[in-house]
Amino acid sequence: MSEQPINGGEPYIVCDNLVKIFKVADLEVVALQGLDLTVRKGELMAIIGNSGSGKSTLLNILGGLDRPSAGGCLVGGIDLVKAPESELVYYKRYKVGFVWQQSGRNLIPYLTAFENVQAPMLFANVSARNRKEYAMELLEAVGLQDRMHHHLGELSGGQQQRVAIAISLANQPELILADEPTGEVDNETASHIYEILRTLSEQRDLTVVIVSHDRNIARRVDRVVAIRDGRTSTETVRRVGGEEDGDEHSHEEFVIVDPAGRLQIPREYLQQLGIEGRAVVDVEDGRVTVRSAADDNEEEAPEDTPARRGLFGRGSG
Ligand code: ADP
Ligand code: MG
Repeated sequence: MSEQPINGGEPYIVCDNLVKIFKVADLEVVALQGLDLTVRKGELMAIIGNSGSGKSTLLNILGGLDRPSAGGCLVGGIDLVKAPESELVYYKRYKVGFVWQQSGRNLIPYLTAFENVQAPMLFANVSARNRKEYAMELLEAVGLQDRMHHHLGELSGGQQQRVAIAISLANQPELILADEPTGEVDNETASHIYEILRTLSEQRDLTVVIVSHDRNIARRVDRVVAIRDGRTSTETVRRVGGEEDGDEHSHEEFVIVDPAGRLQIPREYLQQLGIEGRAVVDVEDGRVTVRSAADDNEEEAPEDTPARRGLFGRGSG
């Protein structure tokens, strides 16, 4: 497994060549096809990608709700591929908290916010006194102390998601996994929710992974990893010194190169340059260049580089 920490710090999540195949009748759907990802402890990061790219599949695996088909997945020192069922139950109960897109999946509708936050603690046998104290602390942390005795229907969508965040913390997890937590709220409310997650991450040294299809999330988190077709493709990090909020120049985008040298070239570049099927790869001035093989054949007097001789068998008949 590749154990190099990203952006310094100890790695908390390490996914190595993760594969997930769903079998539906006689068909196989490859939802993750060799995904590599490292997240350090205490990092607030986002995973973005189009619908169907494998985001929820990844999150379910990270949360111990589903097992990968192949590859490695270590979270908080637990091997989620090999761990026995009993260890997974322990992991889900004490190490990880979930926030879902639909607040209905997070909340019990006939209970108040205060009762909802206490519910997970009931199952963990926390004393009534500690339960109430901690529930109050969490509702304060998400700014809902004055709404704590409201029922679900009396809260706005954004407020319900804030209750959901408080619930996800009830078992004092090390990791929060949020699957499109702002998918059903307006931009302003979304900003507020991201702000709460950032504060919680900083105050509690929580590792937070947010799944989103919103590219603008880059300004809200430390790092964004893009998934395309079940594989990590690019990574955007906040540039040191890039302070202005919302300034795209404060971010830098990188393509991810896996240990075998595979990378994904953005589709728009391929279209722009007419690269399809085969391409020519060269090293020029310390750079690796990729260009259309078709262009190359049309050239009048191409340079006779070793790479071309190799690719087209020039000189060997
Ligand atoms: P995203 O969350 O990025 O929209 P998903 O992880 O939900 O994507 O899905 C990735 C791919 O895996 C899709 O093609 C989806 O149809 C398929 N998939 C997800 N879950 C299942 C399942 N339980 N059974 C069969 N196919 C699934
Ligand atoms: Mg999804």
